[in-house]
Amino acid sequence: MKCPLCGYNIPREKIECRNCPMGNNCQLVCCPHCHYQFIDPHSSRLLNLLKRLFKR
Ligand SMILES: [Zn+2]
Repeated sequence: MKCPLCGYNIPREKIECRNCPMGNNCQLVCCPHCHYQFIDPHSSRLLNLLKRLFKR
């Protein structure tokens, strides 16, 4: 996972956002280098899939 702002290569274990109340369900990726937050395109796709499953 590469930060789109500073290009820092974020380790997989540091991807999850710890500052927000959503915890592990948060789709935001927090860059530990510049603290920029962005949405992981892979996890948001997964989240959309989950949303579609729960909407039934
Ligand atoms: Zn960054």
